[in-house]
Amino acid sequence: MHTPIIAANWKMHKTVSEAVDFISGLKKEEATFSDRRVIVAPPFTALRPAADALSGSSIGLAAQNMSYAESGAFTGEVSAGMITDAGCTYVIIGHSERRHLFGETNEQINKKLVLAFKEGLKPIFCIGETLQEREADETISLIRQQITEGLINISAGDIDSLIIAYEPVWAIGTGRTATPEQAEEVHRVIKETVQEISDKGGTPTVPVIYGGSVNEQTIESLMNQDNIDGVLVGGASLKLESFLNIIRFRASVLPEGE
Ligand code: PEP
Repeated sequence: MHTPIIAANWKMHKTVSEAVDFISGLKKEEATFSDRRVIVAPPFTALRPAADALSGSSIGLAAQNMSYAESGAFTGEVSAGMITDAGCTYVIIGHSERRHLFGETNEQINKKLVLAFKEGLKPIFCIGETLQEREADETISLIRQQITEGLINISAGDIDSLIIAYEPVWAIGTGRTATPEQAEEVHRVIKETVQEISDKGGTPTVPVIYGGSVNEQTIESLMNQDNIDGVLVGGASLKLESFLNIIRFRASVLPEGE
């Protein structure tokens, strides 16, 4: 069993001061979730101030995206080296909003993953099917394709520091969550597929987290599944109180006074 991973994707929300205030509040409560791996992904503009605010804390910092190029004439892009320089240890790659709103392909995502590993970043690699693909019974083949094409030329050693986020597109920001059983089935296939690719045999080890309208009410039943190692939370991570309630699902260390 992995340490539960609870990651916040703030998307295009929060100014610098809003991000720093949130992080200060989160840090104050850190002793109540020392048995969880908590990660926040602010927008690019808030990364450096967020890194400074996180100093002395074990909460991880992620960028929400990065360029598939190392440097050069790519106006508006931000490189792996730049986000590392801004204080990130993690980077979200292949989020469905990048794939579907900005046309990112498996090939581009693979380039990003290669560069992220080269830079020593830990990628949170997002995959997931659309409603149309689910209804056409293509979920498993699509997922396997996203994994195999995304992980071309990635070594088994690098795969050891990978986190995969299964995010069904139809569940993101829609208020519609996959049932724990639906998510569990796909998570199992993801782990088996990654294990095949890294040619390891034995029990799959890659942590797979679920994303798609996770909230304080759904966290517990999702985390009760054997192959759900954590969650990637969008909307419900924007308010400190609701994010803390998600982090502290089945809390083993309760805040003072509770
Ligand atoms: C996400 O952005 O990765 C996400 C899962 O969003 P939401 O929780 O709002 O569905």
